[in-house]
Amino acid sequence: MKLFDLSGRVAVITGGNGGIGLGMGRGLAGAGAGVMVAGRNAEKNAAAVAELEALGAKAAAVEVDVTDAESCGAMVARTLAAFGRVDILVNNAGIGLRRQPQDYALEEWHRVLETNLTGAFTCSQAVYPQMCRQGGGKIINIGSMLSIFGASFSAPYSASKGGIVQLGKSLAIAWAEDNIQVNTVLPGWINTELTIQTRKDVSGLHERVLARTPAGRWGEPEDHAGIAVFLASAASDFLTGTAIPVDGGYSISI
Ligand code: NDP
Repeated sequence: MKLFDLSGRVAVITGGNGGIGLGMGRGLAGAGAGVMVAGRNAEKNAAAVAELEALGAKAAAVEVDVTDAESCGAMVARTLAAFGRVDILVNNAGIGLRRQPQDYALEEWHRVLETNLTGAFTCSQAVYPQMCRQGGGKIINIGSMLSIFGASFSAPYSASKGGIVQLGKSLAIAWAEDNIQVNTVLPGWINTELTIQTRKDVSGLHERVLARTPAGRWGEPEDHAGIAVFLASAASDFLTGTAIPVDGGYSISI
């Protein structure tokens, strides 16, 4: 459908080399977008590009560390060199460290905040001038159920994911006049590298998630393909500053 058509559009996805980022990349590629896979790990980047190309998409990769502002600037420059434009930024790169609040080293707190929150801000700043030159754009942030809820073992992660929703609202207001829409996706519990380890570490988590999720299963990265296309396309032009759960109903269930 034309409303969801992304032909000729270009998306940069931080952390696009696996998990939810690649799930979104598959969706965006399927709707016709070119995809710049932006992650730290060159091997994972190359494998993701090969997979997207096999789907018939135009794809390329850039090594980026979102905690480094220069690296974020270089990511945009590489995207322009490869594709000539940037229409969509997915701020998906993220890490989590599980400890009780009193046990975090300050460096660990900063590492999580700098990756999950400051990185999204820096990448948004980096794409802004080009989106303005092109007459608009779409920024998709990745929050979490921990944008809504707290957890004893995730103080910096929860702070970063609460913060990214508020960041999204402020960017949405500031850049509405530039025709840039900024929205945040709140994934539920999704089967990725990030949660495979969590499930091993947190006893009973797997069963608790299943019991509370009306859909009756953990999510998969592919469950985020549709929301990515919606938020990247003209279908969402009057939608900005929102935080949308994609969680099989987890957040509306007790
Ligand atoms: P993954 O671990 O598979 O993906 C995380 C991605 O972030 C990797 O591709 C990694 O790339 C990238 N990344 C981490 N640090 C940096 C950095 N400094 N610079 C650039 N890239 C970086 O896990 P998910 O797919 O699960 O996570 C993706 C996002 O979804 C995260 O923001 C996470 O918080 C969020 N999320 C996940 C949920 C889940 O249940 N899985 C639930 C809610 C939110 P590389 O390997 O190259 O470093």
